[in-house]
Amino acid sequence: MAAAAPTLPGAQHVDKAGAIKLQTKVDQVVQTTPAAAPVAQVAEEVSQAPAPAPVAAPFGLQNLPPEVAGPLAQAEEVIKGLQRQMAPQQAVRPVAGEISSGFGSRWGEFHYGLDFADQIGAPIHSVSGGTVIEAGPASGFGLWVRIAQDDGTTAVYGHVNEFFVHQGQRVNTGDVIATVGNRGNSTGPHLHLEIWDAAGAKIDPYPWLAAKGVPMQWGPSQH
Ligand SMILES: [Zn+2]
Repeated sequence: MAAAAPTLPGAQHVDKAGAIKLQTKVDQVVQTTPAAAPVAQVAEEVSQAPAPAPVAAPFGLQNLPPEVAGPLAQAEEVIKGLQRQMAPQQAVRPVAGEISSGFGSRWGEFHYGLDFADQIGAPIHSVSGGTVIEAGPASGFGLWVRIAQDDGTTAVYGHVNEFFVHQGQRVNTGDVIATVGNRGNSTGPHLHLEIWDAAGAKIDPYPWLAAKGVPMQWGPSQH
């Protein structure tokens, strides 16, 4: 086997070209090194650089040079992302049981809530944080709990078997406020959940829960 590779004219050509490119790069690096360049030239290069995303005072620090503001803004974004992940949940599913009836027309009437089938005595968790407006008897629901939630909506928990909260009490997302029952106008143990908007209109709880990040693949789960 003759070792012909080193003598290939093409290879030598590539080597030369590569060396020239490398030298050009070195020259560029030297030219753009701030220490080796006049201040005016550096300023010109900065102004000609592709415009970075507008950096609006990262961490509230004004008048930072771009080479500081840029990385700081990136760090700020990373921290904000972590804060979003660590933030307390906005909402949770109220019971482990599956959705047994949706919001909408049903049996010739309009069903203004979302039903979750579960056994009597199963814990009901407050879907969101708020203040208890009322906990007690209610026509049709037997017993209900109503909570004025922090986002301005009202949550209504109907047919409950027993409740553990009282008017004026502060509850947090996930707190156990009552248990599933079969009181009032009910055809079997379940929770009837309603969400009223700020004006008192009954809205579909399903998209409301989904929008707050509650997994809507309902099935048996741990409490
Ligand atoms: Zn219902």
